[in-house]
Amino acid sequence: MEITKIKEVVLEAEGIKTFILEKEVKATPGQFVMVWIPGVGEKPMSASYATGNLGITALAVGPFTNRLLEMKEGELLGIRGPYGRGFEIKGEKLLVVGGGVGMPPLAAFVDEATKEGKKVTAIVGAKTKSGLLFCDRLNDAGARVLTCTDDGTEGVRGYVTDAMSQLLRTETFDSCYTCGPEIMMHKVMVMAKESKIPTQLSAERYFKCGIGVCGHCAIDYKGQRVCMEGPVFSDSELESGEFGKYARDATGKRVYFKN
Ligand SMILES: Cc1cc2nc3c(=O)[nH]c(=O)nc-3n(C[C@H](O)[C@H](O)[C@H](O)COP(=O)(O)OP(=O)(O)OC[C@H]3O[C@@H](n4cnc5c(N)ncnc54)[C@H](O)[C@@H]3O)c2cc1C
Repeated sequence: MEITKIKEVVLEAEGIKTFILEKEVKATPGQFVMVWIPGVGEKPMSASYATGNLGITALAVGPFTNRLLEMKEGELLGIRGPYGRGFEIKGEKLLVVGGGVGMPPLAAFVDEATKEGKKVTAIVGAKTKSGLLFCDRLNDAGARVLTCTDDGTEGVRGYVTDAMSQLLRTETFDSCYTCGPEIMMHKVMVMAKESKIPTQLSAERYFKCGIGVCGHCAIDYKGQRVCMEGPVFSDSELESGEFGKYARDATGKRVYFKN
C-alpha cells in the first residue's frame, strides 16, 4: 500500500469527479487499483488515467464514493496496484461502447489506442446530457464520438445499443470494447457477436482482497476471479454462466439483474 496525495480534483458531471494523484503509474487501460480511505474502507477503481499521474473517476453512490467525492487537493489516499488484466488492442478499426461510469477505463483505452494510430469510434451513453463522460477528451484524442442519452437531451435518443445497432447496419469493426451496467455490456456482446466482432468487456463484482485470495469475485461457472483473470474478459470467457444474469452482494447472496 502506498499513501499518495490528491494532486488535482476535476468535477466531470453532477456526482462524478476525477482525482489525479501524485502516484505515477504505467498501467494497462482496464486495470484497477484498490483505493483506501482511512476509517471508511477500500474499493476497486479503474484507472481513468493509466500512464503518468494515476487518475481515478468515481460516481457517488454509497458511503465510500460519497466520502471520496468530499476529498480535496492535498488530502491522502492509500493505493494498492495496479492489478488485474486490462484491455488488449486487437485490430485497426475499434468500436468502444460505454455507459455512465463505465467510461473511465474506456477513456484510458482510447488514449492508448489512438496513440498507436488505431481508428476508434466511441459510443458514449448516459441517462442525460450532463452525465456524458469524457466526450471532449475522446474527441481530442482523435476518436469519432457518437453520443446517446435516455432522455434525448444529446445525440441519439435511447440506449448505446440503439446507436450501436444503427452503426452496425453500415459498418464493421475488428474489435469491440465495453464497460458499463452489466445488462448493457451483455447486449453489446450479443450484438457484436451477431456481426462477428469479438468483444472485450470489463466486469464488475464485489471485491474484498483484490489479489485473488478471498475468491469473493469469482464468476460462475468457471470460477474466474474478476480481480485476477479479469476485470477484462473476452466474450467467449463469459458466454455461459452468471454474466448478464446475476452477481453476488457483500454477503455472497445472488442478486439478479433486472432487464
Ligand atoms: C474492477 C472494478 C472497477 C471499478 N471502477 C470504478 C470506477 O472507475 N468508478 C466508480 O465509481 N466505481 C468503480 N467501481 C465500483 C466501486 O468499487 C464501488 O463498488 C462503487 O463505487 C460503490 O461503492 P460505495 O461504497 O460508495 O457504495 P456501495 O455501498 O457499495 O453501493 C451503494 C449502492 O449503489 C449501488 N451501486 C454500486 N455501484 C453503482 C453504480 N456504478 N451505479 C449505480 N449504482 C451503483 C449499489 O448496488 C448499492 O445499492 C469498480 C468496481 C470494480 C470491481
